[in-house]
Amino acid sequence: MELITILNRCHRFRGFVYHRATFSPDHKSIEISVRPRTGSAAICSRCHQPAPGYDQLRERRFEFIPLWGFFVFLLYAMRRVDCRRCGAVVVEEVAWGDGKHTLTKVYMLFLARWARHVSWKETAQAFRTSWDKVFDAVEYVVGWGLEHRTLGRIGAIGVDEIQYAKGHKYLTLVYQIDLSIIRLLWVGKERTAESFRRFFTTIGTEVASQIAFVCSDMWEPYLKVIREKCSEALHILDRFHIVAKMNKAIDEVRAVEARRMRAEGCYTVLKKSRWLLLKRSENLDAEQHFRLRDILRYNLKTVRAYLLKEAFQQLWEYNSPAWAGKFLDEWCRQTMRSRIEPLKKIARSLRQHRPLILNYFKAQKTLSSGVVEGLNNKAKVTMRRSYGSRTYRVLELALYHSLGKLPEPELTHDFF
Ligand SMILES: [Zn+2]
Repeated sequence: MELITILNRCHRFRGFVYHRATFSPDHKSIEISVRPRTGSAAICSRCHQPAPGYDQLRERRFEFIPLWGFFVFLLYAMRRVDCRRCGAVVVEEVAWGDGKHTLTKVYMLFLARWARHVSWKETAQAFRTSWDKVFDAVEYVVGWGLEHRTLGRIGAIGVDEIQYAKGHKYLTLVYQIDLSIIRLLWVGKERTAESFRRFFTTIGTEVASQIAFVCSDMWEPYLKVIREKCSEALHILDRFHIVAKMNKAIDEVRAVEARRMRAEGCYTVLKKSRWLLLKRSENLDAEQHFRLRDILRYNLKTVRAYLLKEAFQQLWEYNSPAWAGKFLDEWCRQTMRSRIEPLKKIARSLRQHRPLILNYFKAQKTLSSGVVEGLNNKAKVTMRRSYGSRTYRVLELALYHSLGKLPEPELTHDFF
């Protein structure tokens, strides 16, 4: 069986024929020359219609999927057409590639699929190509996907921020969190109101008007844009973010108190207590339980803060918004008298956002922000994998590529 027979089976294009397959002089590559089928007119790449020929350019090399340890190239001299419709001399359109890339479309799709499972660097190494070519491949596939995706009806969205560039910069991520589909919809620079507004510009007012639920954290610029753009939607404060803030406050109380006790030369019961106090008590093992009980015997600020935090968890068990509201008010009242400043700060913020927190119960808890949290964890993994360059563009592409559930160009043959 000849190579050309195989190619005709898996990568055949109307109007073109595979002419000959040979080794390159160094025997590292297989080169396959491609020619226009006799009598078939070239297609104008601007209007996609056949047009009379004008001239022919120098032979180009289009890189194909490597085979058995050989690089594979398609060699073709592009024609130019004198297109009357466009009124210009234009390069012809070829189905296997485009003007911008040296890789064939199938090879780009092939690399991009791998780049979703392993890092871009590993993909480049595995196929003896460069990181830049993997970048090109992902850029092509993501570009195609964004152009061809259907937004449809978006019922629920979650917005969150993520840090990058060693924590100096932020991205805004918007997810669709409907039961039917969970995906990343949009990535934007910074976490400002302007950047979040751009998301609404992208989806358009009609799609935006159908959004019924919005999940977010307490970041003021997001709250502001949601009030502006989704005034009809039920805005839900993210449960996960509230818990995370609470844990941060406990940690702060513990750190300050442990430092003070050390300075006073006291035996420090708080030594290595960090995780005991941050974990939910039902997640501790027997020995950790024992140690926790030991700590709780002392009359420490940390202990009082811990007990308030644990008590707060009860909030999520309520079903009725009214009862949840009563509980929240009572918790805030107690906390305001606790003289524990980091927790008082939280209580103030909870009071201020009371209606948004109670919306969580109004939505019958269906939109637990656990979904957003899970997506954001995936986003962080993706970011780590695409490292090699930490620029915004790389992260944007990597995030759309792994979380966007974007459609892919269709192939007649599955190159697995
Ligand atoms: Zn044309």
